[in-house]
Amino acid sequence: TPRVFSGIQPSGNLTLGNYLGALKRFVEMQESDIETLYCVVDMHAITVWQDPADLRHNTREVTAAYIACGLDPAKSILFNQSQVPAHAQLAWIFNCTARIGWMNRMTQFKDKAGKNAEKSSLGLLAYPALMAADILIYQATHVPVGEDQKQHLELARDIAAKFNHDFDTDFFPSPDPLIDGEATRVMSLRDGTKKMSKSDPSDQSRITLRDDADTIAKKIRKAKTDPEPLPETLKELEGRPEARNLVNIYAALSGRTAESVIAEFSGQQFGQFKPALAELAVDHLAPITQEMNRLMADPAEIDRVLGNGADRAAAIAEPILDKTYDIVGMVRSR
Ligand code: ATP
Ligand code: MG
Repeated sequence: TPRVFSGIQPSGNLTLGNYLGALKRFVEMQESDIETLYCVVDMHAITVWQDPADLRHNTREVTAAYIACGLDPAKSILFNQSQVPAHAQLAWIFNCTARIGWMNRMTQFKDKAGKNAEKSSLGLLAYPALMAADILIYQATHVPVGEDQKQHLELARDIAAKFNHDFDTDFFPSPDPLIDGEATRVMSLRDGTKKMSKSDPSDQSRITLRDDADTIAKKIRKAKTDPEPLPETLKELEGRPEARNLVNIYAALSGRTAESVIAEFSGQQFGQFKPALAELAVDHLAPITQEMNRLMADPAEIDRVLGNGADRAAAIAEPILDKTYDIVGMVRSR
């Protein structure tokens, strides 16, 4: 049976990239009849240093964003990863399935570890094995993610396949990444070759779900572009990553194709296009930000949602973990 799983790290301010690449699509999946689980992956977040008070706040804030974007805790299972220990338990088994060489090839590890990889946490290297466990502990079949997670999803498939092969079973399904829309990779507003990220040190590089209308308009106005006007076709945007990024964002927010956006704005300067984009972004994000703020005023209610979601998630995960231990040959006698 099909089942959707995805997650977001409570590692900072949610960005427009998280909204277009993840949140917005999580809500679309919920509208289907398929069972949906959406996790706040706090154990992934601590692969790089998180201040404990910030981590707690950000965990609640991602949950508030889930709900503010339209996820309904009665329809989707919303929870935080650390409250369902089966994720960590399965991750250990997958640490023993995956090979170090596979992890060393991950571009996210290289990006996040930077020049001094020896000094990064062991967890940062092992991150994709935990991610495989997040998905496979529910035997999830579909994983809506941004383009940046494609490589990790392939690794999750490799782990499932190696486990099945090693133990001569077909227990774990091969999860399919769902990477669609016009903004599967929203780029930094300062550098069109880098993806927009919560953890980027520059707040000017991203639009966030905490920004007010003026801040959004200002960030878009200051976004790096080139002096050329918008061309007639998408093809002519090749080699202009910043321009392409703004067109993609406009398309994704308006639910249109990038082709139709370029056709409408062709010949215009960024001085004209940027205010239109800012207005569109504010129209979409302001109500979400407002609702998030309202929800954040009652953290106890958010924690209740997470607790209930964790109970429901654990009820699915525990039998799958038990069966996995059994396949591996662990004695279970209590
Ligand atoms: P961090 O910098 O801490 O890794 P992040 O912004 O990359 O934060 P994640 O929590 O790692 O956010 O990812 C959550 C989801 O958002 C994933 O599905 C990821 O693919 C998606 N996502 C992240 N950044 C972008 C982006 N720039 N464009 C589209 N999707 C994105
Ligand atoms: Mg990330």
